Amino acid sequence: MASAFTHGLVGLALGRLSTAERQPRRFWVLAALCAILPDIDAVGYMMGVDYAGMWGHRGIIHSLLVALLTGFAVALLAFPSVVRWSREWWRLVLFFFGATASHGLLDALTTGGLGVAFFAPFSGTRYFLPWRVIRVSPIGVGSFFSARGAAVIASEALWVWLPMLVLLAIARVVRRRRHGSPR
Ligand SMILES: [Zn+2]
Repeated sequence: MASAFTHGLVGLALGRLSTAERQPRRFWVLAALCAILPDIDAVGYMMGVDYAGMWGHRGIIHSLLVALLTGFAVALLAFPSVVRWSREWWRLVLFFFGATASHGLLDALTTGGLGVAFFAPFSGTRYFLPWRVIRVSPIGVGSFFSARGAAVIASEALWVWLPMLVLLAIARVVRRRRHGSPR
């Protein structure tokens, strides 16, 4: 895992990148939650579920399929007033799929643990991306507040927060040019 904090921040940043429109509070809460959500499988890890198995940490719960199902579930349950199958509704599905899937992508950039089973349940193969630059975050809160935790945060700041801030700044400039007003 990258730290839950960083996963949540990425969800929020993706939300801002995806739309300049005003969004209800639940949009932001769910954006952060979806980006953190796949790590609920760490509970199984702590209870002794085989890490390398389908239901292990970074297994099926971190897959693209579960991310897609999450996208549908959020659009259906949290935004009932948005007309189903409309363009706006699909935009929500796609966004919450992306926010959830960002979790696995971030994990696939980390230095430790097993890779991410992106294609579970069809394949149990675990993947990392070619660049493994983010220091892996310890599982469990206790070990997080340690020297290792500080190193993790520093590495996430460099490889995640900074690129996100740059992207947000670029989006702001582009939108300002397009609309002629700050957003
Ligand atoms: Zn994870």
